[in-house]
Amino acid sequence: MTQDTRPRGFATRAIHHGYDPMNHQGALVPPVYQTSTFAFPSVEHGAACFAGNEQGYIYTRISNPTLALLEARIATLEGGEAGVAFASGMGAITATLWTLLSPGDEILVDTTLYGCTFSFLHHGLAKFGVVVRHCDMTSTVAVQRALSAQTRVVYFETPANPNMRLVDIRQVAMLARASGAITVVDNTYCTPYLQRPLELGADIVVHSATKYLSGHGDVTAGLVVCDAATAERIRLEGLKDMTGAVLSPHDANLVLRGIKTLALRMERHCDNAKAIVRLLAHHPLVTRVHYPDLPDNPQRMLALRQMKRAGGMIAFELKGGYDTGRRFMNALQLVTRAVSLGDPETLAQHPASMTHSTYTPEERAAHGIPEGLVRVSAGLEDTEDLLADVEQALAVAAAGMPSESAAA
Ligand SMILES: *Cc1c(COP(=O)(O)O)cnc(C)c1O
Repeated sequence: MTQDTRPRGFATRAIHHGYDPMNHQGALVPPVYQTSTFAFPSVEHGAACFAGNEQGYIYTRISNPTLALLEARIATLEGGEAGVAFASGMGAITATLWTLLSPGDEILVDTTLYGCTFSFLHHGLAKFGVVVRHCDMTSTVAVQRALSAQTRVVYFETPANPNMRLVDIRQVAMLARASGAITVVDNTYCTPYLQRPLELGADIVVHSATKYLSGHGDVTAGLVVCDAATAERIRLEGLKDMTGAVLSPHDANLVLRGIKTLALRMERHCDNAKAIVRLLAHHPLVTRVHYPDLPDNPQRMLALRQMKRAGGMIAFELKGGYDTGRRFMNALQLVTRAVSLGDPETLAQHPASMTHSTYTPEERAAHGIPEGLVRVSAGLEDTEDLLADVEQALAVAAAGMPSESAAA
């Protein structure tokens, strides 16, 4: 029999890459190395490990075999050389940026960002002399104009939360590179199954593995993928010395288990999202649907170019603003009222009454959060059940509209 030398597919690597049961007493599932420290056979061996002359595990905050397997798996799926695992997405993002930036450097970021990333930039990095600048990265002209000789890092998410606008990864990474800056992309919303920023020219990918990668809402974790030398710097500076945001081996095992079914799950998330979008797009109570793959979306061609499918996240605006949004949310019976995303359960959140409830309506308007905006993470349930729940909640929300009650 001849050896099969074809490159293995995404789902195969998500299940097998980096692990051979024959090296582990035949165990089908990789053993979990639940240990904080590692024994040295001799002082000399220990010294060689510390000096970096000998490969060997020392202490789990630096590396651990269970974490190493997860790191190898996310690296192959993203098409990068090396990965680093963290205790949360914010652990991954902060460790990466602490490692790359020094006082006086500039970081150029998109106008729309995950809330805690925004807080870290303005309350964390800025306090230590890093200059944080925003620009609308949906416009490559704006990016070109905003890049300066001090710009060390260009950072964005695509699609961005909650309005689902897209950034052209290839174009922005090319402009950043020409200007000597490193491009970092938060790929949480897509996962490497739908979008691979490194293949489009980005330098570093960061993830909240809390979301689709682990996929079951039972763990917080973060991952970084990039070239091997930068990964080693992020591990030894950002992880070991600066944040200490080390992932527990048990949680790494949960992420490894989740990734095995990522390809299947993402297809179903996309199918369910598409069905919900179709219902919303034709509903009289819905004024606007934000989803990359809609015929009237000016960024639809970009979505088709850089994403395999349009993803599982939807945002939409309801007629009647805050009260309609609140009534819709309270009327949901199957869809769960919760933040986060990427879980088997379909989740809905109403920024005006939940994540952004401490803002005044004027502040929400300034941040582009309409009062009637609802965000949905399409889960894995039967499509018909989801459509029935969304439809009945829309009917309840419509029945409570002031004009209708006045007429009644
Ligand atoms: C959730 C999330 C994060 C933060 O990840 P945690 O695991 O919650 O720390 C960062 N970026 C995006 C896009 C997210 O959705």
